[in-house]
Amino acid sequence: MSCPNCNQNLLNGVFYCDVNDYRVIDNLNDRNLIFIIETHEIEDDNEEIGDNQNIQYCNHQDCRYLKFPED
Ligand SMILES: [Zn+2]
Repeated sequence: MSCPNCNQNLLNGVFYCDVNDYRVIDNLNDRNLIFIIETHEIEDDNEEIGDNQNIQYCNHQDCRYLKFPED
């Protein structure tokens, strides 16, 4: 599977709802930031914080294409 925008191979990552933003991280053990998708104003104690989903992404030259499993 390659990126529809720039034709690079998509990489595996995790879509993660962090305290201040939605972000792409490498995996749930290390939680290394790949890039921030957008900030949000969700309260810290909201159950949505910590939500996560395995996705594929492209970060070639800040492409930031996301592919969710249901797409
Ligand atoms: Zn791309």
